[in-house]
Amino acid sequence: MDVKNKKVTVVGIGRTSMALIRLLLREGAMPYVTDASKAAALQPMREQLEELGVPYECGGHSSSAFEDTALVIPSPGVPPSIEPIGQAVEAGAACISEMEFAFPYCRSKIIAVTGTNGKTTTTELIRHMIYACGHTVLLAGNNDLPFSEAVMVEPAPEFIVLEVSSYQLELIETFHPWIGVLLNLSEDHLARHGTMEEYASAKANLFAHQGPGEIAIVNADDPLCSGFAQRRAGTCGLVLVPVHRFSVSQRLETGLWLDGDTIRNGDTAIAERGDVHLPGPHNLENVLAALAVMSIGDFRWDKVIEGLRCFEGVEHRLERVASIDGVDYINDSKSTNLDSLKAALESFDGPLVLIAGGRGKGSDYASLRGPVAQRVSTLITMGEDAPLIEDALAGEVPALRAADMADAVAKAAQAAPAGGVVLLSPGCASFDMYSNFEERGRDFKRAVGELRPPRHGATERMTA
Ligand code: ADP
Repeated sequence: MDVKNKKVTVVGIGRTSMALIRLLLREGAMPYVTDASKAAALQPMREQLEELGVPYECGGHSSSAFEDTALVIPSPGVPPSIEPIGQAVEAGAACISEMEFAFPYCRSKIIAVTGTNGKTTTTELIRHMIYACGHTVLLAGNNDLPFSEAVMVEPAPEFIVLEVSSYQLELIETFHPWIGVLLNLSEDHLARHGTMEEYASAKANLFAHQGPGEIAIVNADDPLCSGFAQRRAGTCGLVLVPVHRFSVSQRLETGLWLDGDTIRNGDTAIAERGDVHLPGPHNLENVLAALAVMSIGDFRWDKVIEGLRCFEGVEHRLERVASIDGVDYINDSKSTNLDSLKAALESFDGPLVLIAGGRGKGSDYASLRGPVAQRVSTLITMGEDAPLIEDALAGEVPALRAADMADAVAKAAQAAPAGGVVLLSPGCASFDMYSNFEERGRDFKRAVGELRPPRHGATERMTA
């Protein structure tokens, strides 16, 4: 869309919107920014807007913010269903996501990854392997460089690996990646999307506009994803978009699958389980998805495997923090839903002391009973949902309530037997106690760091 000399209303100020505004200004648009938060909360962003000479309002959305606007672009965190956006659209404005707006300016091949869990791990791994192959690559999207900023980088990298949230996919009209990857779909973000169907259909938008030469990769083991793949295969003849599948539990004639300790592409062995240094069966799914991407591009396979072998994972995702007195301390603060918590429980063999809780998402904690009874020796709860988690699980394991992270870690250290694991995998958002999951993870690491002296002169190892 040509935005030169046109008013564009950006709803919500954040990191993504600031990058978007710079792209809008480069293209000659006249951005106007409106945010419902109070001015004090937006101080650093307001300073940047003033420097750029971009008009804005805070503390609510006035009707003048949307008057005579050609285009409305809500920030990823702003639901497009809010009333003023609806009225602007009725009055004739277009409404698209930041990702959709930036797409035409992208000169790199886009590998876009979505799913409920595993996006960051998978995108980081793909980036790592492409880099190991000697190509230029940028990571962008949800948690990294905003896509609008990535498309302005000079010289343009050969590849952009884009982490895509369902929010960004809600307002897509033409966006079509070279390769789109759908990792898995489970209950999350239902407060925004309403139903599982709407959430799944937002995710499936990733493939909606792909054309010849472009490829969809989906998880054959996930019922919702594989249902999608089958529907897609039915229309393949028309749109010429092949669907590649990957599986850790079934043999695939075409696609990547796990044959004992060997990873195969169809019949061909392409990697070994021993090449993967990430814990847990769920990470094997992420690895298969990433290798599926690499098997499509023209990459040197020995370099791909070299890259895989030296990938140690991402901070706050099953991150090994320390080993103290024969107990491993694992930071999985990014576990913000029950599927990631269940995946974490399946990743360790020894007795587990689990620290869980925070701001829940209306999840049914009773679904944790089986996995907790099987794997957890002591449960330590914290945060807003602690009572709900205890009600659902206390009959299964001894449960202790912690006042804060330091208390949780101290109680966990007391309860953990030698050879055991203390796992922070909250299964909840962090916003009741922290500003984000990173802060929660760092607090856990700090509390582990303060567990001194190690009991009985045993060995201690800390990582950053
Ligand atoms: P995302 O970016 O989608 O949130 P991350 O890679 O940051 O994904 O991982 C988020 C959480 O989900 C972590 O607790 C991680 O251990 C867990 N996780 C990663 N991959 C998967 C997967 N394929 N299935 C279930 N849980 C996963």
